[in-house]
Amino acid sequence: MIKKLFEKSISDSGISSDDAAFLVNADLYEILEYSHKIKKIKFQNNVSTCAIINARSGLCSEDCTFCAQSSHHKTQAPVYDFIDLDRIRKASKELRKLNVERFSVVTSGITPTESEFELIIKAIKIIKDEGLLPDASVGCMTRDKLIKLKDAGLSAYHHNLETSRSFFPNICTTHSYDDDINTVKNAVDIGLYVCCGGIFGLGESWEQRIELAQTLKELKVQSVPVNFLNPIKGTPLENNVPVSEEEALRLLAIYRFMLPEAAIRVCGGRTTVFDEGSRIDVLSSGASGIMVGDYLTTKGGSVEEDLKNITKYKEAK
Ligand code: SF4
Repeated sequence: MIKKLFEKSISDSGISSDDAAFLVNADLYEILEYSHKIKKIKFQNNVSTCAIINARSGLCSEDCTFCAQSSHHKTQAPVYDFIDLDRIRKASKELRKLNVERFSVVTSGITPTESEFELIIKAIKIIKDEGLLPDASVGCMTRDKLIKLKDAGLSAYHHNLETSRSFFPNICTTHSYDDDINTVKNAVDIGLYVCCGGIFGLGESWEQRIELAQTLKELKVQSVPVNFLNPIKGTPLENNVPVSEEEALRLLAIYRFMLPEAAIRVCGGRTTVFDEGSRIDVLSSGASGIMVGDYLTTKGGSVEEDLKNITKYKEAK
């Protein structure tokens, strides 16, 4: 059955949500064998790398239950206004030396102010000048603003849906799911490369994880970041238990079956879920990229170590 779903996944029809539901209880090692084959067919040995910089931190008006930056929660997350552009230039130079491919400016908040937007435009130009692909994750955007970002040289717009429509009211009440969907639709519509995914371990069911993948497929996003909850003290989810390594691998594999054409990037929470020795094993799941370096408000792993492991992965496969 798994082999049949593999063939269906790489064919034009793709697999259905019911097929994906079958994979939730199927043998993990067999699923991983085939999800990795899909990755090899679609992306060969390539492993895309990206990094982010938290350019404006904290004081967000939104109440996302998992987020350290929401002003609705009392956390120790740093709070600062838009950083000096020299820091973005310096970080770009360092990442370029390490051959990291993409670098994203990320800001807290539902949408930037006009003056922040001008700084984001400048940051995109700086990152591009330094030889990296400039990405941005700066909240809900109108079509006009997205066009301005694209004209400035933006390579990818990142905007997560976070979870499925049916679970969203449990994690955010200050904006609607459609606010996020509309941003993604506008970005796809104007021809931006769109990176849109979610965070897992919030209390959502497997059905809701599959529901999110189906939505991402329908939106035709080219890249899907997969984040795992790192429960932050002071947030409503501080006592959630992070997903296990096995659950994370199963999720990545099912996403690979459902979204064979999309780059699947393992982002926040990789260092929470995976032990140091197995952090790179996520690539055997069918993922085609990883975020390196620090996350928004939490520490990540060593960039050099991740890049060394990626080279090993490429040589071994
Ligand atoms: S996830 Fe984004 S929108 Fe939600 S609280 Fe955090 S910074 Fe604000």
